[in-house]
Amino acid sequence: MIQLHDLQFTPYISEEKIMNSIEELTVKINDDLKGEKPLFIGVLNGSFMFATEIIKRFDGDCEVSFIKMSSYEGTATTEEVKELIGLKEDIAGRTVVVLEDIVDTGNTIEVLIEKLQEKKCKEIKIATLFYKPEAYKKEIKIDYIGISIPNRFIVGFGLDYDGLGRNLTDVYQLKSDNNMTNLVLFGPPGAGKGTQAEVLKDKYNLKHISTGDVFRYNIKNATELGTLAKSYIDKGQLVPDEVTIKMLSEEVDKNSEAKGFIFDGFPRTEAQAQALKVLLESKKASVSAMVALEVDDEVLVQRLLERGKTSGRADDADENVIRNRIKVYYKETAILKEYYEKEDKYFGVDGFGEVPEITSRLSKVIDNL
Ligand code: AMP
Repeated sequence: MIQLHDLQFTPYISEEKIMNSIEELTVKINDDLKGEKPLFIGVLNGSFMFATEIIKRFDGDCEVSFIKMSSYEGTATTEEVKELIGLKEDIAGRTVVVLEDIVDTGNTIEVLIEKLQEKKCKEIKIATLFYKPEAYKKEIKIDYIGISIPNRFIVGFGLDYDGLGRNLTDVYQLKSDNNMTNLVLFGPPGAGKGTQAEVLKDKYNLKHISTGDVFRYNIKNATELGTLAKSYIDKGQLVPDEVTIKMLSEEVDKNSEAKGFIFDGFPRTEAQAQALKVLLESKKASVSAMVALEVDDEVLVQRLLERGKTSGRADDADENVIRNRIKVYYKETAILKEYYEKEDKYFGVDGFGEVPEITSRLSKVIDNL
């Protein structure tokens, strides 16, 4: 294991494996470019090691150049503008091979290729040592791929973490020391989150935190927090973020040994989702998925009225309060679907049916994470 700045990394891909893949890759490049005099363009900083190894193995004459993509914020918007610097050669009519250390989302390569195409070269080929198929979002074909990797953060062989690690000849991955599974169980009031969480926490050995339960516990014990929360809960409104976030952080900290959490009833606002992100990042973890139970509104009202007969919960007894809770969910909380969709972490699950049936739908999602 190695330490770079504040993070720990574990060995991931050996130098030998990297060299073998470069050997294979250069066989293809040599084959394709027989008789050509290509210009190899390494994209700095990360590609310097990869570029050296490729160029050393090229059979014929070639030229070598290095460029940088610099980023700056546009003036009118916060949109990032990328500029290509350092290319002195006239590349019109030439065969160009772009050498990248890693292709991730493809944003850099897209801009780079666009800029090179403007210069009217004969042909552009792209070679990358590492490639993240899950992260890649572009149409541009990558001609030569060394090693495909999952969406992980790696350092070494030219790649850095905040400036360090480029000189390592093996590649290391960020140590996910806790391998935590953190689920946000989502859905309107009455969707069955609590019931399902009880089953899932045992099945996956996770700690269940229900913010609603913690509030009710505090109300029962007449704590300061309980008194404050009660005024909101009785009306079916959300307790203010500041109070809820503080409480949730304390609950997480109380369970520092947990292998993961099921967050039930949290986050309910975007500010809470942000706070959860920061909290988990401090543990080198993240939200694994938001699994959302989708249930028709009228079914929810009937379920909650039924539950109110035995739960003793004032907010389950009054149909107006119930309808307000559902309204609050759609108005303030449902936007979180979009928040986690953007991160490819949203999974909707049909919440209508028998408890075991719904558990098995949820498990299918969790097992595939
Ligand atoms: P629940 O048991 O999840 O339906 O929550 C019951 C009530 O507790 C909600 O109607 C809110 O008033 C309050 N509450 C629970 N979780 C949160 C949260 N994350 N943010 C704000 N209020 C919450």
